[in-house]
Amino acid sequence: MNIQDIQAIQLLLATPKKIAIIPHRGPDGDAMGSTLGLYHFLLKNNHYPVVVSPNEFPDFLAWMPGSETVKIFEKDKQNCTKILEDAEIIFTLDFNALHRTGEMEHVLAQLKAPFVMIDHHQKPDNYAVVTYSDTSFGSTCEMLYNFILFLGKKEDIDKTIGTCIYTGILTDSGSFRFPKTTGTTHRIVAELIDLGVENTEIPSLLFDNSSYGRLQILGRALQNMIILPEHKTAYTTLTQEELNSFDYVKGDTEGIVNYGLSIKGILFTAIFIENKEEKIIKISFRSQGDFDVNQFARDYFNGGGHRNAAGGKSADSMEETKKKFEDLITKLSI
Ligand code: 5GP
Ligand code: MN
Repeated sequence: MNIQDIQAIQLLLATPKKIAIIPHRGPDGDAMGSTLGLYHFLLKNNHYPVVVSPNEFPDFLAWMPGSETVKIFEKDKQNCTKILEDAEIIFTLDFNALHRTGEMEHVLAQLKAPFVMIDHHQKPDNYAVVTYSDTSFGSTCEMLYNFILFLGKKEDIDKTIGTCIYTGILTDSGSFRFPKTTGTTHRIVAELIDLGVENTEIPSLLFDNSSYGRLQILGRALQNMIILPEHKTAYTTLTQEELNSFDYVKGDTEGIVNYGLSIKGILFTAIFIENKEEKIIKISFRSQGDFDVNQFARDYFNGGGHRNAAGGKSADSMEETKKKFEDLITKLSI
C-alpha cells in the first residue's frame, strides 16, 4: 500500500463505523482467518464489524475465535442484505472479483459505501477505493498482518488476532510448503507464536478432526484416480452419489486434490466434484513448477486462482467434463 492508501484507510477508520467484512464463497482457512482477524482488530478499535459470508463455512473452521458471530448470506438474505446496506465501509478479503461471492454479488454491486480490497489473487477488479492486492503473498492473512502494521497498530495484534492470521498462513501455504512461503512468513509466524498462538494445537484442530466419512471419501477419490503419465497428470472424481453414500458434509473434500502431486513424476493434478444442487462440477487444480493452472482454469473452466492452485467449474456432465479435460491435456501437450 502506498502512503495515500494508508492515509485513506486511516481517515475511513478515524471514527467508529459499521463495517461489513466479506470472504469469498466457500470460505477456506485464509478467507476465514483474514476476515475474522480483521473483525477482531476492528472491534478492538471501537468499530462495529460484522463478517458476512456468502455461504456456510466448513466445520473444521468452526473453532475459530469469532466464527459464532459470522452471518451467512445464503441462509438469511434479508438480515444480511440489511447489514450490508447499513455498512459504512465494506472490506472484501481473499478474492479479486465480486462474482466470487455468488448471489451476494448483486447486493454488493448496488452498495454506495466505500470498498477496501485485501487480496493475493491475480487480476483484481476495480471496485474498491483502496485495493491492496499483491500476488507475491502466499496468503491474505500475511497481507492482513502487514495491513495492521501499515496502520501503525502492530501492538493491537494479540493472541486472538494472531490465531486467525496464523490459521490463514498455515492453510494457504500448505503448512509452509508452497513456494510463496518466505523468511518473512516464518518471522511473522515466530512473532505470533511468541504472542501465545497455539502452533501445535491449531494444525491439529484443522487437520486431525476428520470424520470416518471424510476418510472414506478420500479413499474413494484415491481409488478413482486416473494417471496420465505421459502428461505428468493425475486427476480424480467424486460424484454426488459417492459423496452422499459417505455422509458428506461441507469441507470433506478439502485438500484431496493435493494427493495427486504426491505421486512421483506428477506435476499437474485435478479433482472434479459433482454438486447436484448447484448443477455444476466444481473443479480444483494444482501444479508443481511452471504450469500455470490459474490461466488454465480461466481459459477453459470459468475459474481462476493462483499459478499453482486454482479452481473452476463446469456445467457439463461429469463424463463430458472428464472428456474435455483429457482432450485439453492431449491438445495442449501438457
Ligand atoms: P480450491 O481449489 O482450494 O477451491 O481453490 C484454489 C484457489 O483457486 C483459491 O485461491 C481459490 O480462491 C481459487 N478458486 C477456486 N475456485 C475458483 C473459481 O471458481 N473462480 C476463481 N476465479 N478462483 C477460484
Ligand atoms: Mn487465500
